[in-house]
Amino acid sequence: RGIGTYSTAFATEEPITPQVQVKYTQLLINGKFVDAASGKTFQTLDPRTGDVIANVSEGDAEDINRAVSAARTAFDDGPWPKMPPYERSRILLRFADLIEKNIDELAALETWDNGKPHEQAAKAELPMLVRLFRYYAGWADKIHGLIVPADGPHQVEVLHEPIGVCGQIIPWNFPLLMFAWKVGPALACGNTIVLKTAEQTPLSALYASKLLHEAGLPPGVLNIISGYGPTAGAALASHMDVDKLAFTGSTETGKIVLELASKSNLKPVTLELGGKSPFIVCEDADIDKAVELAHFALFFNQGQCCCAGSRTFVHERVYDEFLEKSKARALRRVVGDPFKKGVEQGPQIDSEQFEKVMRYIKSGVESGATLESGGERFGSKGYYIQPTVFSNVQDGMLIAKDEIFGPVQSILKFKELDEVIKRANSTRYGLAAGVFTKNIDTANTLTRALRAGTVWVNCFDVFDAAIPFGGYKMSGHGREKGIYSLNNYLQVKAVVTPLKNPAWL
Ligand code: NAD
Repeated sequence: RGIGTYSTAFATEEPITPQVQVKYTQLLINGKFVDAASGKTFQTLDPRTGDVIANVSEGDAEDINRAVSAARTAFDDGPWPKMPPYERSRILLRFADLIEKNIDELAALETWDNGKPHEQAAKAELPMLVRLFRYYAGWADKIHGLIVPADGPHQVEVLHEPIGVCGQIIPWNFPLLMFAWKVGPALACGNTIVLKTAEQTPLSALYASKLLHEAGLPPGVLNIISGYGPTAGAALASHMDVDKLAFTGSTETGKIVLELASKSNLKPVTLELGGKSPFIVCEDADIDKAVELAHFALFFNQGQCCCAGSRTFVHERVYDEFLEKSKARALRRVVGDPFKKGVEQGPQIDSEQFEKVMRYIKSGVESGATLESGGERFGSKGYYIQPTVFSNVQDGMLIAKDEIFGPVQSILKFKELDEVIKRANSTRYGLAAGVFTKNIDTANTLTRALRAGTVWVNCFDVFDAAIPFGGYKMSGHGREKGIYSLNNYLQVKAVVTPLKNPAWL
Protein backbone atom coordinates (compact mmCIF):
# COMPACT_ATOMS: atom_id res chain seq x y z
CA ARG A 1 0.00 0.00 0.00
CA GLY A 2 1.12 3.53 -0.73
CA ILE A 3 3.57 4.38 -3.48
CA GLY A 4 6.97 2.70 -3.28
CA THR A 5 8.16 0.00 -0.93
CA TYR A 6 8.55 0.77 2.74
CA SER A 7 9.62 -1.93 5.16
CA THR A 8 6.57 -3.28 6.95
CA ALA A 9 8.55 -5.28 9.51
CA PHE A 10 7.79 -2.53 11.97
CA ALA A 11 4.06 -3.29 11.90
CA THR A 12 4.53 -6.47 13.93
CA GLU A 13 7.10 -5.18 16.41
CA GLU A 14 6.31 -4.46 20.05
CA PRO A 15 7.03 -0.86 21.19
CA ILE A 16 10.32 -0.49 23.06
CA THR A 17 9.87 0.20 26.80
CA PRO A 18 11.15 3.73 27.62
CA GLN A 19 13.98 3.86 30.20
CA VAL A 20 12.34 6.52 32.35
CA GLN A 21 9.70 6.82 35.05
CA VAL A 22 7.03 9.50 34.94
CA LYS A 23 7.66 11.22 38.28
CA TYR A 24 5.81 14.53 37.97
CA THR A 25 2.22 14.83 36.82
CA GLN A 26 0.78 17.59 39.04
CA LEU A 27 0.73 21.34 38.47
CA LEU A 28 3.76 23.27 39.72
CA ILE A 29 2.57 26.30 41.70
CA ASN A 30 4.70 28.32 44.10
CA GLY A 31 7.48 25.75 44.07
CA LYS A 32 5.20 22.80 44.96
CA PHE A 33 3.54 20.07 42.93
CA VAL A 34 -0.20 20.29 43.59
CA ASP A 35 -3.44 18.86 42.22
CA ALA A 36 -5.71 21.00 40.06
CA ALA A 37 -8.30 22.93 42.10
CA SER A 38 -11.02 20.93 40.34
CA GLY A 39 -9.21 17.64 41.06
CA LYS A 40 -9.50 16.84 37.34
CA THR A 41 -6.87 15.02 35.32
CA PHE A 42 -6.37 14.26 31.63
CA GLN A 43 -4.51 11.53 29.82
CA THR A 44 -1.29 12.07 27.96
CA LEU A 45 -0.85 9.45 25.23
CA ASP A 46 2.02 7.56 23.62
CA PRO A 47 1.94 8.49 19.90
CA ARG A 48 3.49 5.12 19.02
CA THR A 49 0.39 3.26 20.20
CA GLY A 50 -2.26 5.67 21.46
CA ASP A 51 -1.86 4.08 24.93
CA VAL A 52 -2.02 6.17 28.09
CA ILE A 53 1.37 7.21 29.51
CA ALA A 54 0.04 9.03 32.57
CA ASN A 55 -2.86 10.95 34.05
CA VAL A 56 -1.87 14.57 34.44
CA SER A 57 -3.51 17.28 36.56
CA GLU A 58 -5.75 19.42 34.38
CA GLY A 59 -5.33 23.09 35.22
CA ASP A 60 -8.06 25.59 34.37
CA ALA A 61 -8.91 29.22 35.14
CA GLU A 62 -8.83 28.66 38.91
CA ASP A 63 -5.33 27.18 38.75
CA ILE A 64 -4.15 29.98 36.46
CA ASN A 65 -5.38 32.41 39.17
CA ARG A 66 -3.40 30.55 41.82
CA ALA A 67 -0.28 30.45 39.65
CA VAL A 68 -0.51 34.12 38.63
CA SER A 69 -0.97 35.08 42.27
CA ALA A 70 2.18 33.09 43.21
CA ALA A 71 4.12 34.68 40.35
CA ARG A 72 2.86 38.15 41.36
CA THR A 73 3.99 37.70 44.96
CA ALA A 74 7.34 36.30 43.80
CA PHE A 75 7.78 39.34 41.58
CA ASP A 76 6.57 42.02 44.00
CA ASP A 77 7.92 40.65 47.27
CA GLY A 78 10.34 37.84 46.41
CA PRO A 79 14.09 37.92 45.94
CA TRP A 80 14.22 37.11 42.21
CA PRO A 81 13.86 40.48 40.43
CA LYS A 82 16.06 42.22 43.02
CA MET A 83 18.70 39.51 43.23
CA PRO A 84 22.17 40.51 42.01
CA PRO A 85 22.06 39.44 38.36
CA TYR A 86 25.18 37.34 38.82
CA GLU A 87 23.25 35.19 41.32
CA ARG A 88 20.47 34.69 38.77
CA SER A 89 23.09 33.80 36.21
CA ARG A 90 24.60 31.17 38.52
CA ILE A 91 21.21 29.52 39.08
CA LEU A 92 20.67 29.30 35.31
CA LEU A 93 24.17 27.85 34.89
CA ARG A 94 23.52 25.25 37.59
CA PHE A 95 20.28 24.36 35.83
CA ALA A 96 22.17 23.88 32.55
CA ASP A 97 24.54 21.48 34.37
CA LEU A 98 21.56 19.57 35.79
CA ILE A 99 19.98 19.24 32.34
CA GLU A 100 23.26 17.77 31.11
CA LYS A 101 23.26 15.25 33.95
CA ASN A 102 19.64 14.30 33.24
CA ILE A 103 19.75 14.24 29.44
CA ASP A 104 18.80 10.56 29.23
CA GLU A 105 15.64 10.94 31.33
CA LEU A 106 14.61 14.21 29.70
CA ALA A 107 15.17 12.89 26.18
CA ALA A 108 13.28 9.68 26.98
CA LEU A 109 10.30 11.64 28.35
CA GLU A 110 10.35 13.89 25.28
CA THR A 111 10.36 10.91 22.92
CA TRP A 112 7.68 9.05 24.83
CA ASP A 113 5.28 11.98 25.04
CA ASN A 114 6.00 13.45 21.59
CA GLY A 115 7.16 10.58 19.35
CA LYS A 116 10.35 12.27 18.12
CA PRO A 117 13.43 10.08 17.54
CA HIS A 118 15.30 9.62 20.80
CA GLU A 119 18.66 10.26 19.13
CA GLN A 120 17.37 13.60 17.86
CA ALA A 121 16.15 14.57 21.34
CA ALA A 122 19.28 13.38 23.17
CA LYS A 123 21.95 14.47 20.72
CA ALA A 124 20.50 17.62 19.17
CA GLU A 125 17.65 19.13 21.16
CA LEU A 126 18.79 18.64 24.76
CA PRO A 127 22.30 20.01 24.03
CA MET A 128 20.59 23.04 22.45
CA LEU A 129 18.60 23.45 25.65
CA VAL A 130 21.80 23.45 27.71
CA ARG A 131 23.43 25.92 25.33
CA LEU A 132 20.41 28.21 25.43
CA PHE A 133 20.30 28.41 29.23
CA ARG A 134 24.08 29.05 29.34
CA TYR A 135 23.64 31.75 26.71
CA TYR A 136 20.95 33.56 28.73
CA ALA A 137 22.85 32.98 31.99
CA GLY A 138 25.59 34.95 30.25
CA TRP A 139 23.18 37.80 29.53
CA ALA A 140 21.71 38.01 33.06
CA ASP A 141 24.51 40.21 34.40
CA LYS A 142 25.00 42.20 31.20
CA ILE A 143 21.55 43.74 30.96
CA HIS A 144 21.75 47.42 31.80
CA GLY A 145 20.23 50.73 30.88
CA LEU A 146 21.71 53.88 29.42
CA ILE A 147 22.43 57.47 30.23
CA VAL A 148 21.23 59.61 27.36
CA PRO A 149 21.91 63.29 26.62
CA ALA A 150 19.14 65.84 27.30
CA ASP A 151 18.53 69.24 25.73
CA GLY A 152 18.33 70.99 29.10
CA PRO A 153 20.26 70.59 32.37
CA HIS A 154 18.86 67.16 33.14
CA GLN A 155 20.38 63.83 33.84
CA VAL A 156 18.43 61.17 31.96
CA GLU A 157 18.83 57.56 32.99
CA VAL A 158 17.06 54.89 30.97
CA LEU A 159 16.48 51.87 33.20
CA HIS A 160 15.86 48.39 31.80
CA GLU A 161 13.60 46.64 34.28
CA PRO A 162 11.99 43.20 34.23
CA ILE A 163 8.48 43.49 32.80
CA GLY A 164 6.76 41.53 35.60
CA VAL A 165 4.59 38.41 35.50
CA CYS A 166 4.95 36.69 32.12
CA GLY A 167 2.34 34.32 30.70
CA GLN A 168 3.81 31.83 28.27
CA ILE A 169 1.94 29.32 26.10
CA ILE A 170 3.86 26.68 24.17
CA PRO A 171 3.07 23.98 21.55
CA TRP A 172 3.83 20.26 21.45
CA ASN A 173 6.31 19.93 18.59
CA PHE A 174 9.43 20.87 20.57
CA PRO A 175 8.19 20.85 24.17
CA LEU A 176 11.56 21.41 25.87
CA LEU A 177 13.05 23.75 23.29
CA MET A 178 9.95 25.94 23.35
CA PHE A 179 10.14 25.89 27.15
CA ALA A 180 13.78 27.07 26.89
CA TRP A 181 13.13 29.80 24.31
CA LYS A 182 10.47 31.25 26.59
CA VAL A 183 11.83 30.64 30.09
CA GLY A 184 15.54 31.35 29.45
CA PRO A 185 15.33 35.04 28.49
CA ALA A 186 12.40 35.79 30.83
CA LEU A 187 14.33 34.50 33.85
CA ALA A 188 17.60 36.14 32.80
CA CYS A 189 15.76 39.49 32.84
CA GLY A 190 14.39 38.88 36.37
CA ASN A 191 10.75 38.14 35.56
CA THR A 192 8.39 35.59 37.06
CA ILE A 193 6.43 33.18 34.89
CA VAL A 194 3.26 31.15 34.49
CA LEU A 195 3.83 28.73 31.62
CA LYS A 196 1.11 26.58 30.07
CA THR A 197 2.40 23.51 28.27
CA ALA A 198 0.61 21.89 25.33
CA GLU A 199 -1.98 19.32 26.38
CA GLN A 200 -0.32 16.69 24.16
CA THR A 201 3.10 17.01 25.85
CA PRO A 202 2.95 18.04 29.51
CA LEU A 203 5.66 15.78 30.96
CA SER A 204 9.14 17.08 30.13
CA ALA A 205 8.57 20.69 31.26
CA LEU A 206 7.49 19.46 34.70
CA TYR A 207 10.68 17.42 35.02
CA ALA A 208 12.86 20.32 33.80
CA SER A 209 11.16 22.76 36.18
CA LYS A 210 11.87 20.46 39.11
CA LEU A 211 15.56 20.60 38.14
CA LEU A 212 15.39 24.39 37.92
CA HIS A 213 14.17 24.49 41.52
CA GLU A 214 16.97 22.14 42.52
CA ALA A 215 19.35 24.64 40.93
CA GLY A 216 18.09 27.29 43.38
CA LEU A 217 15.13 28.99 41.69
CA PRO A 218 12.99 30.59 44.44
CA PRO A 219 9.36 29.37 44.75
CA GLY A 220 6.74 31.16 42.67
CA VAL A 221 9.21 32.36 40.02
CA LEU A 222 8.27 29.62 37.55
CA ASN A 223 4.82 28.03 37.68
CA ILE A 224 3.79 25.30 35.25
CA ILE A 225 0.17 24.62 34.36
CA SER A 226 -0.76 21.58 32.27
CA GLY A 227 -4.14 21.90 30.60
CA TYR A 228 -6.15 22.82 27.55
CA GLY A 229 -6.07 25.95 25.42
CA PRO A 230 -9.64 27.26 25.63
CA THR A 231 -9.64 26.87 29.45
CA ALA A 232 -6.16 27.33 30.97
CA GLY A 233 -4.59 29.03 27.93
CA ALA A 234 -7.41 31.53 27.47
CA ALA A 235 -7.44 32.31 31.22
CA LEU A 236 -3.73 33.11 31.08
CA ALA A 237 -4.00 35.25 27.92
CA SER A 238 -6.85 37.29 29.38
CA HIS A 239 -5.57 37.57 32.96
CA MET A 240 -5.55 41.13 34.29
CA ASP A 241 -2.47 40.55 36.42
CA VAL A 242 -0.24 39.12 33.68
CA ASP A 243 2.08 41.82 32.35
CA LYS A 244 3.29 40.12 29.17
CA LEU A 245 2.22 37.21 27.01
CA ALA A 246 4.46 35.06 24.79
CA PHE A 247 2.76 32.51 22.57
CA THR A 248 3.96 29.85 20.14
CA GLY A 249 1.43 27.85 18.17
CA SER A 250 -0.86 28.13 15.19
CA THR A 251 -1.76 31.39 13.49
CA GLU A 252 -5.44 30.78 14.27
CA THR A 253 -4.79 30.50 18.02
CA GLY A 254 -2.37 33.43 17.80
CA LYS A 255 -5.27 35.63 16.68
CA ILE A 256 -7.37 34.43 19.61
CA VAL A 257 -4.74 35.12 22.28
CA LEU A 258 -3.94 38.52 20.79
CA GLU A 259 -7.61 39.43 21.04
CA LEU A 260 -7.84 38.12 24.61
CA ALA A 261 -4.78 40.15 25.58
CA SER A 262 -6.13 43.32 23.99
CA LYS A 263 -9.60 42.89 25.47
CA SER A 264 -8.24 42.42 28.98
CA ASN A 265 -5.31 44.60 30.02
CA LEU A 266 -3.55 45.29 26.68
CA LYS A 267 -0.55 43.23 27.73
CA PRO A 268 2.14 43.16 25.04
CA VAL A 269 2.20 39.91 23.07
CA THR A 270 4.93 38.14 21.14
CA LEU A 271 3.73 35.53 18.67
CA GLU A 272 5.65 32.71 16.99
CA LEU A 273 3.19 31.20 14.54
CA GLY A 274 2.94 29.00 11.49
CA GLY A 275 4.78 29.00 8.19
CA LYS A 276 4.90 27.71 4.62
CA SER A 277 8.57 28.21 3.98
CA PRO A 278 10.04 28.07 0.47
CA PHE A 279 13.19 26.04 -0.19
CA ILE A 280 14.64 27.24 -3.49
CA VAL A 281 17.00 25.03 -5.49
CA CYS A 282 18.74 26.97 -8.26
CA GLU A 283 20.13 25.34 -11.39
CA ASP A 284 23.75 25.71 -10.22
CA ALA A 285 23.16 24.05 -6.84
CA ASP A 286 25.01 20.94 -5.68
CA ILE A 287 22.05 18.66 -6.35
CA ASP A 288 22.94 15.82 -3.99
CA LYS A 289 23.38 18.23 -1.10
CA ALA A 290 20.23 20.13 -2.05
CA VAL A 291 18.21 16.90 -2.15
CA GLU A 292 19.46 15.87 1.28
CA LEU A 293 18.85 19.30 2.83
CA ALA A 294 15.44 19.76 1.22
CA HIS A 295 14.52 16.34 2.61
CA PHE A 296 15.78 17.31 6.07
CA ALA A 297 14.10 20.74 5.84
CA LEU A 298 10.72 19.08 5.37
CA PHE A 299 10.84 15.71 7.13
CA PHE A 300 12.76 16.71 10.29
CA ASN A 301 10.63 16.15 13.41
CA GLN A 302 8.01 14.24 11.34
CA GLY A 303 7.41 17.43 9.37
CA GLN A 304 6.10 19.09 12.53
CA CYS A 305 8.23 22.23 12.32
CA CYS A 306 6.86 25.72 12.04
CA CYS A 307 9.74 26.56 9.68
CA ALA A 308 9.58 23.34 7.62
CA GLY A 309 10.71 23.88 4.02
CA SER A 310 7.29 22.87 2.79
CA ARG A 311 7.42 24.34 -0.71
CA THR A 312 10.42 22.90 -2.54
CA PHE A 313 10.93 25.12 -5.62
CA VAL A 314 13.31 23.51 -8.12
CA HIS A 315 14.73 25.06 -11.29
CA GLU A 316 13.35 23.38 -14.43
CA ARG A 317 16.83 22.35 -15.68
CA VAL A 318 17.54 20.24 -12.60
CA TYR A 319 13.95 19.34 -11.74
CA ASP A 320 13.89 15.75 -13.08
CA GLU A 321 17.16 14.75 -11.43
CA PHE A 322 16.12 16.43 -8.16
CA LEU A 323 12.76 14.71 -8.19
CA GLU A 324 14.16 11.21 -8.79
CA LYS A 325 16.70 11.64 -6.00
CA SER A 326 14.18 13.17 -3.58
CA LYS A 327 11.80 10.30 -4.14
CA ALA A 328 14.58 7.75 -3.59
CA ARG A 329 15.62 9.56 -0.41
CA ALA A 330 12.07 9.54 0.95
CA LEU A 331 11.82 5.80 0.28
CA ARG A 332 15.08 5.28 2.20
CA ARG A 333 13.86 7.27 5.21
CA VAL A 334 13.89 5.03 8.27
CA VAL A 335 10.48 5.13 9.92
CA GLY A 336 9.79 3.24 13.13
CA ASP A 337 9.80 3.22 16.92
CA PRO A 338 11.52 6.48 17.84
CA PHE A 339 13.37 4.71 20.67
CA LYS A 340 15.12 2.48 18.15
CA LYS A 341 18.64 3.46 17.11
CA GLY A 342 18.91 4.77 13.55
CA VAL A 343 15.21 5.66 13.24
CA GLU A 344 14.75 8.99 11.46
CA GLN A 345 10.99 9.37 11.71
CA GLY A 346 8.57 8.47 14.48
CA PRO A 347 4.80 8.87 14.67
CA GLN A 348 2.85 12.13 14.35
CA ILE A 349 1.84 13.59 17.69
CA ASP A 350 -1.78 12.41 17.86
CA SER A 351 -4.78 11.14 15.93
CA GLU A 352 -6.00 14.65 15.19
CA GLN A 353 -2.74 15.64 13.48
CA PHE A 354 -2.56 12.23 11.79
CA GLU A 355 -6.03 12.69 10.30
CA LYS A 356 -5.27 16.25 9.26
CA VAL A 357 -2.11 15.22 7.39
CA MET A 358 -3.95 12.33 5.69
CA ARG A 359 -6.65 14.77 4.56
CA TYR A 360 -3.98 16.97 2.96
CA ILE A 361 -2.47 13.97 1.18
CA LYS A 362 -5.91 13.15 -0.21
CA SER A 363 -6.39 16.75 -1.27
CA GLY A 364 -3.01 16.70 -3.06
CA VAL A 365 -4.05 13.66 -5.07
CA GLU A 366 -7.50 15.08 -5.83
CA SER A 367 -6.13 18.41 -6.98
CA GLY A 368 -3.90 16.71 -9.55
CA ALA A 369 -0.44 16.67 -7.94
CA THR A 370 1.57 13.50 -8.66
CA LEU A 371 2.10 11.21 -5.69
CA GLU A 372 5.71 10.04 -6.05
CA SER A 373 6.12 8.16 -2.77
CA GLY A 374 4.18 7.22 0.34
CA GLY A 375 0.71 8.60 0.90
CA GLU A 376 -0.47 6.03 3.44
CA ARG A 377 -0.40 5.15 7.12
CA PHE A 378 2.79 3.35 8.09
CA GLY A 379 2.38 0.18 10.17
CA SER A 380 -0.84 -0.81 11.86
CA LYS A 381 -0.86 1.11 15.16
CA GLY A 382 0.01 4.57 16.40
CA TYR A 383 0.19 7.65 14.20
CA TYR A 384 2.93 6.83 11.69
CA ILE A 385 2.74 8.19 8.13
CA GLN A 386 4.86 7.12 5.15
CA PRO A 387 7.29 9.83 3.99
CA THR A 388 5.31 11.34 1.15
CA VAL A 389 6.53 13.25 -1.90
CA PHE A 390 4.33 15.11 -4.36
CA SER A 391 5.63 16.45 -7.69
CA ASN A 392 3.84 18.63 -10.19
CA VAL A 393 2.52 20.80 -7.38
CA GLN A 394 0.91 24.10 -8.42
CA ASP A 395 0.83 27.27 -6.30
CA GLY A 396 -2.95 27.29 -5.98
CA MET A 397 -3.25 23.79 -4.51
CA LEU A 398 -4.06 23.50 -0.82
CA ILE A 399 -0.90 21.44 -0.22
CA ALA A 400 1.13 24.41 -1.53
CA LYS A 401 -0.77 26.99 0.52
CA ASP A 402 -1.60 25.49 3.93
CA GLU A 403 0.71 24.43 6.69
CA ILE A 404 0.42 20.61 6.59
CA PHE A 405 2.66 19.99 9.62
CA GLY A 406 3.47 16.46 8.50
CA PRO A 407 5.88 14.36 6.38
CA VAL A 408 4.61 15.59 3.01
CA GLN A 409 7.03 17.22 0.58
CA SER A 410 5.61 19.34 -2.24
CA ILE A 411 7.93 19.89 -5.21
CA LEU A 412 7.25 22.81 -7.56
CA LYS A 413 9.04 23.78 -10.78
CA PHE A 414 10.34 27.28 -11.62
CA LYS A 415 12.16 28.93 -14.51
CA GLU A 416 13.24 32.49 -13.63
CA LEU A 417 14.63 34.03 -10.46
CA ASP A 418 12.12 36.90 -10.47
CA GLU A 419 9.33 34.41 -10.90
CA VAL A 420 10.40 32.26 -7.95
CA ILE A 421 10.82 35.31 -5.73
CA LYS A 422 7.24 36.36 -6.46
CA ARG A 423 5.87 32.88 -5.93
CA ALA A 424 7.91 32.26 -2.77
CA ASN A 425 6.63 35.52 -1.26
CA SER A 426 3.08 34.89 -2.33
CA THR A 427 1.93 33.48 1.01
CA ARG A 428 0.37 34.86 4.18
CA TYR A 429 3.36 33.48 6.09
CA GLY A 430 6.95 34.69 6.35
CA LEU A 431 8.79 32.56 8.85
CA ALA A 432 11.79 31.11 7.00
CA ALA A 433 13.28 30.28 3.61
CA GLY A 434 16.08 28.14 2.19
CA VAL A 435 18.25 29.03 -0.76
CA PHE A 436 20.48 26.59 -2.62
CA THR A 437 22.99 28.05 -5.08
CA LYS A 438 26.74 28.38 -5.60
CA ASN A 439 26.37 31.86 -7.10
CA ILE A 440 26.93 34.67 -4.60
CA ASP A 441 24.89 37.14 -6.66
CA THR A 442 21.92 34.80 -6.81
CA ALA A 443 22.23 34.19 -3.07
CA ASN A 444 22.37 37.92 -2.31
CA THR A 445 19.40 38.65 -4.57
CA LEU A 446 17.29 35.97 -2.93
CA THR A 447 18.25 36.72 0.68
CA ARG A 448 17.26 40.37 0.22
CA ALA A 449 14.08 39.71 -1.74
CA LEU A 450 12.56 36.95 0.40
CA ARG A 451 10.11 38.21 3.03
CA ALA A 452 10.99 35.84 5.86
CA GLY A 453 12.47 36.12 9.36
CA THR A 454 15.27 33.63 8.59
CA VAL A 455 16.92 32.82 5.28
CA TRP A 456 19.25 29.82 5.33
CA VAL A 457 21.72 29.70 2.43
CA ASN A 458 23.09 26.26 1.54
CA CYS A 459 21.96 25.04 4.97
CA PHE A 460 18.68 24.70 6.87
CA ASP A 461 17.43 24.59 10.47
CA VAL A 462 20.56 26.09 12.02
CA PHE A 463 19.34 27.24 15.43
CA ASP A 464 22.16 28.68 17.54
CA ALA A 465 21.12 30.39 20.76
CA ALA A 466 22.31 33.77 19.48
CA ILE A 467 20.41 33.67 16.16
CA PRO A 468 17.09 35.53 16.32
CA PHE A 469 14.02 33.63 15.13
CA GLY A 470 10.56 34.86 14.25
CA GLY A 471 8.21 35.74 11.46
CA TYR A 472 7.16 38.35 8.95
CA LYS A 473 3.47 38.72 8.11
CA MET A 474 1.14 36.16 9.71
CA SER A 475 4.04 34.10 11.05
CA GLY A 476 4.16 36.33 14.09
CA HIS A 477 5.32 39.38 16.01
CA GLY A 478 8.72 39.84 17.61
CA ARG A 479 11.80 37.66 17.73
CA GLU A 480 12.97 34.93 20.09
CA LYS A 481 16.53 33.85 20.94
CA GLY A 482 19.59 36.01 20.80
CA ILE A 483 19.71 39.52 22.17
CA TYR A 484 16.32 40.23 20.57
CA SER A 485 14.44 38.07 23.05
CA LEU A 486 15.59 40.23 25.94
CA ASN A 487 13.57 43.18 24.60
CA ASN A 488 10.41 41.08 24.94
CA TYR A 489 10.98 40.74 28.66
CA LEU A 490 12.20 44.21 29.66
CA GLN A 491 10.35 47.37 30.53
CA VAL A 492 12.04 50.70 29.77
CA LYS A 493 11.88 53.55 32.28
CA ALA A 494 13.31 57.03 31.79
CA VAL A 495 14.38 58.76 35.02
CA VAL A 496 14.91 62.49 34.58
CA THR A 497 16.64 64.50 37.31
CA PRO A 498 17.55 68.21 37.17
CA LEU A 499 21.26 68.78 37.27
CA LYS A 500 21.99 71.76 39.52
CA ASN A 501 25.54 72.47 38.54
CA PRO A 502 26.21 70.63 35.34
CA ALA A 503 29.91 70.50 34.61
CA TRP A 504 28.95 69.25 31.20
CA LEU A 505 25.83 67.76 29.65
P1 NAD B 1 -2.17 25.45 18.80
O1 NAD B 1 -2.23 26.87 18.40
O2 NAD B 1 -3.40 24.65 18.72
O3 NAD B 1 -1.67 25.29 20.31
C1 NAD B 1 -0.55 25.96 20.81
C2 NAD B 1 -0.78 26.24 22.27
O4 NAD B 1 -1.88 27.14 22.39
C3 NAD B 1 -1.14 25.01 23.11
O5 NAD B 1 -0.53 25.13 24.38
C4 NAD B 1 -2.65 25.12 23.23
O6 NAD B 1 -3.17 24.49 24.37
C5 NAD B 1 -2.82 26.61 23.30
N1 NAD B 1 -4.16 27.07 22.92
C6 NAD B 1 -5.04 26.48 22.06
N2 NAD B 1 -6.19 27.19 22.02
C7 NAD B 1 -6.03 28.25 22.86
C8 NAD B 1 -6.88 29.33 23.25
N3 NAD B 1 -8.11 29.46 22.77
N4 NAD B 1 -6.40 30.23 24.12
C9 NAD B 1 -5.14 30.11 24.61
N5 NAD B 1 -4.31 29.10 24.30
C10 NAD B 1 -4.74 28.18 23.42
O7 NAD B 1 -0.99 24.86 17.95
P2 NAD B 1 -0.45 23.39 17.98
O8 NAD B 1 -1.30 22.60 17.06
O9 NAD B 1 -0.28 22.90 19.36
O10 NAD B 1 1.01 23.62 17.37
C11 NAD B 1 1.26 23.59 16.02
C12 NAD B 1 1.32 25.00 15.47
O11 NAD B 1 2.29 25.79 16.15
C13 NAD B 1 1.74 25.00 14.04
O12 NAD B 1 0.88 25.81 13.30
C14 NAD B 1 3.15 25.57 14.05
O13 NAD B 1 3.55 26.23 12.89
C15 NAD B 1 3.15 26.45 15.21
N6 NAD B 1 4.49 26.58 15.77
C16 NAD B 1 5.17 27.74 15.55
C17 NAD B 1 6.45 27.89 16.03
C18 NAD B 1 7.23 29.16 15.82
O14 NAD B 1 8.25 29.34 16.46
N7 NAD B 1 6.80 30.03 14.97
C19 NAD B 1 7.05 26.87 16.75
C20 NAD B 1 6.33 25.71 16.96
C21 NAD B 1 5.05 25.58 16.45
